[in-house]
Amino acid sequence: MSQIVLSKDTASPPDPRDLNAWKGVWVISEPAQGEFPAVTAELLSKGRELSDRLGVDLACVLLGHGLPEDQIQDAVSRGADRVLVLDHPELADFRDQVYGDVIAALARLDRPEIILAPSTTTGRAYIPRVATMLETGLTADCMGLDINENNVLVQTRPTFGGNLMAGIVCPAHRPQMATVRPHVLKPLPEDRSRKGSITRYEPGQDLLSSGIRVLESIHEEIQGPDICQSDVVVTIGRGVESEEYVNMAQELASLLGGCIGATRPVVDAGWASENFQIGQTGVTISPKLYIGLGVSGAIHHTVGIRASEIIVAVNKDPNAPIFDMATYGIVGDVKQILPLLIKSIKERRC
Ligand SMILES: Cc1cc2nc3c(=O)[nH]c(=O)nc-3n(C[C@H](O)[C@H](O)[C@H](O)COP(=O)(O)OP(=O)(O)OC[C@H]3O[C@@H](n4cnc5c(N)ncnc54)[C@H](O)[C@@H]3O)c2cc1C
Repeated sequence: MSQIVLSKDTASPPDPRDLNAWKGVWVISEPAQGEFPAVTAELLSKGRELSDRLGVDLACVLLGHGLPEDQIQDAVSRGADRVLVLDHPELADFRDQVYGDVIAALARLDRPEIILAPSTTTGRAYIPRVATMLETGLTADCMGLDINENNVLVQTRPTFGGNLMAGIVCPAHRPQMATVRPHVLKPLPEDRSRKGSITRYEPGQDLLSSGIRVLESIHEEIQGPDICQSDVVVTIGRGVESEEYVNMAQELASLLGGCIGATRPVVDAGWASENFQIGQTGVTISPKLYIGLGVSGAIHHTVGIRASEIIVAVNKDPNAPIFDMATYGIVGDVKQILPLLIKSIKERRC
């Protein structure tokens, strides 16, 4: 199968201020060997919506080595019109310089007006490099993406220490670049009947040279339940004043087949491991059921729970901000409500 050779000189650098020279939406896939990455499916769903609004194509960029054909096809089933594939032994191990150079060279050739990338460890490493090489702006960790009346991408994210949600635009340069964390967006259902084109590129040696050599890759197993995959998360806030009630919250989580989550003060107090901290400096979750016990609802925390299907809040303060986003609110003392919840679940199961 013929491949288009990509090098630093394949395309003359387009002017980032020539808005008409850039067209289409890109989603850069998270590198993965096995299943189609969930975060890529989430980004493709938003990419589909944005490209439909603009009346342009949606492309998914896949980089790696030995990329399974299934994964390439999955990109189409998840919403892409085009799949741009870069499969090369030098792309087997992630190196931010090489990934950045290859993606920037491809962007100069294909010229998308919007680039979306996952806000993961790898995405965060290469994407600022790409934005700098393309001489454009980048908004990290967006919570929302929309198109305004001027067909400009509005990138919503917390700002001023998380106290405000700001709509950020990049009106005078292209491409408009944004990253989104996993679990913020909902993926589209797979549609195997969708059709799309596949274009393969061969990255030249000038894009692959790097001072970084990967000697070994070690995959770390996550100990205990994975909060990001759990359908039920029972979250301990500072209102759960003592360890006795922390243990009770854990019991409630086990009864519901879920795991615990925590706010930052609870992690700082050593009541929960930092792996369970939810929010701006923790993880983003999208469970079917989130229960917040003595959680005030500070924006630094709630940015991590917005994608939850049902939010139940228990707080003794009727004016606590968490009630503004709760599906069900219980105004009361956690010390009374928590034992009642556990008792009632146990009784129903007898
Ligand atoms: C840059 C930055 C990043 C941050 N990142 C994060 C983050 O990732 N995650 C995070 O969680 N926080 C984060 N924070 C901290 C965040 O601003 C809040 O301080 C924190 O989320 C509050 O945690 P809380 O709701 O447990 O505690 P509090 O705000 O102290 O709220 C406790 C709540 O419990 C209620 N309560 C008290 N006693 C009872 C009782 N007996 N029964 C029922 N209700 C009771 C109170 O009415 C109150 O609403 C960050 C802060 C900054 C500045």
